[in-house]
Amino acid sequence: MARTAILERLTWRVGTVTELRQESPTARTIVLHIPGWPGHLGGQHVDLRLTAPDGYSTQRSYSIASAADGERVELTVEEIPDGEVSPYLTQVLEVGDALELRGPIGGWFVWRPGPPTPVQLIAGGSGLVPLMAMIRARAAAPGTGVAPFRLLYSVREPEALLYAAELGERATDGTGLEVTYAYTRLAPEGHERPPGRVDAALVRDVTWPPESRPSTFVCGPTGFVESAAGLLVAAGHDPALIRTERFGPTGGRP
Ligand SMILES: Cc1cc2nc3c(=O)[nH]c(=O)nc-3n(C[C@H](O)[C@H](O)[C@H](O)COP(=O)(O)OP(=O)(O)OC[C@H]3O[C@@H](n4cnc5c(N)ncnc54)[C@H](O)[C@@H]3O)c2cc1C
Repeated sequence: MARTAILERLTWRVGTVTELRQESPTARTIVLHIPGWPGHLGGQHVDLRLTAPDGYSTQRSYSIASAADGERVELTVEEIPDGEVSPYLTQVLEVGDALELRGPIGGWFVWRPGPPTPVQLIAGGSGLVPLMAMIRARAAAPGTGVAPFRLLYSVREPEALLYAAELGERATDGTGLEVTYAYTRLAPEGHERPPGRVDAALVRDVTWPPESRPSTFVCGPTGFVESAAGLLVAAGHDPALIRTERFGPTGGRP
């Protein structure tokens, strides 16, 4: 059984792009239909492999943005200027194109619907993607006793927000998701905090207190993740309850 699951994850599959959605001026969502997709949990990612006509091939990791939904899988890619792969995915890829990928990968940085333990999500930039999959999986989880979620989302400026409309709706639908935005460069008019990095005071004010023993997921660029995790531990959170994912470079030939 376990062996079959591992083999499934290692198998390269071909997905077809069925839809493309611009999420911000520099990020877009790629909706894929992947025949035989075995399903996934919020927080998992895929490896994506691109091969040029001359045989040159390279691969990158991308988190899954959507909740499990049959053979439909969504990824959201933020363009890194001068990057090898992300500019292709955000600007060149078209509906109908095929993409080679394998997964779902990851068994640690995942949220499983279950007991209503509070959950703290902390995202830096496109680090929101796997956390959004958790938020969507929570919304899709049937029954009562759904875990209360808090999201602290650090982003450069309002224009760079991912899933802004959906997050706004989910945060006001009365199902127990609280969202706090922290703008690092430019805040919208009337925003309660001036632009700045996530700091100890913000962590104290808007995240679950250590006594609540939240399951915590932190994702974003390496520096952001290290700083946020350090602030949580300094605030008294149990390091064993903090899971992190770093969106560092993943380049390389397969
Ligand atoms: C587990 C995992 C999940 C990921 N999920 C996502 C996701 O959901 N969405 C997403 O957009 N990206 C995600 N990434 C990052 C992604 O894998 C690539 O690293 C990113 O798209 C850049 O690839 P590139 O080929 O365009 O840039 P490259 O050609 O690899 O790099 C170009 C330059 O940018 C720097 N760089 C590379 N990656 C980053 C980065 N993430 N942030 C800042 N600088 C970088 C490199 O050091 C280099 O200097 C994830 C990474 C990991 C490890």
